[in-house]
Amino acid sequence: MMDGADAKAIVRPVNVILLGPPGAGKGTQAAHLVESRGMVQLSTGEMLREAKESDTEMGQRVAEVMARGELVTDEIVIGLIEEKLTSTEGNGFIFDGFPRTLAQADALGALLKRTGQQLDAAIELQVDDAVLVHRILGRAEQSRAAGKAVRADDNEDSLKLRLMEYYQKTAPLIGYYYAKGLLAPINAMGSVEQIATALSEITETFAA
Ligand code: AMP
Repeated sequence: MMDGADAKAIVRPVNVILLGPPGAGKGTQAAHLVESRGMVQLSTGEMLREAKESDTEMGQRVAEVMARGELVTDEIVIGLIEEKLTSTEGNGFIFDGFPRTLAQADALGALLKRTGQQLDAAIELQVDDAVLVHRILGRAEQSRAAGKAVRADDNEDSLKLRLMEYYQKTAPLIGYYYAKGLLAPINAMGSVEQIATALSEITETFAA
């Protein structure tokens, strides 16, 4: 039997994208992978929410675009990812909410190549639209009830736009990664634990 140290020694860093519409559970599942595998979560949404707090003109512009539910420019998000990717070490990266356009996907490919890394899989979290709306509005409700801040874009109007942006600009990435042999679709309608198990199984296969 292999002891813990040996098991660790053969594990190689795995880089995955979590692809899916708002409310698919990308953030929740990324957090699981961070805990279970020591991977590093790179969430452009989180980076942008931080940038938004800064008292700069860019921060203001980002805040307005995000509140409406539109996508921030490729230039800004690619710059954020580039900065993190070249300054962070860890047991593989989880790209959470990035890339969201074909231009971002190309930029990520080039960046990984430049830094001597590779993408192992684009994991598509598949969820019905009705469930997404329910999850997101439920998330806002829960935060409100707990007296926590509600995300400015977790309301019905922004959500409609976010879903439209997803289908128009991000869904084409499903075909893009399929063509590269990197697409791994999973059913993300189940419980958090069920989805986490499916994700772990996929990442395990690449780590061996
Ligand atoms: P998220 O936290 O991933 O749901 O992202 C929240 C919002 O941040 C999105 O609705 C966009 O306005 C913006 N955003 C996050 N990631 C990206 C990205 N990769 N490209 C463009 N905009 C993004």
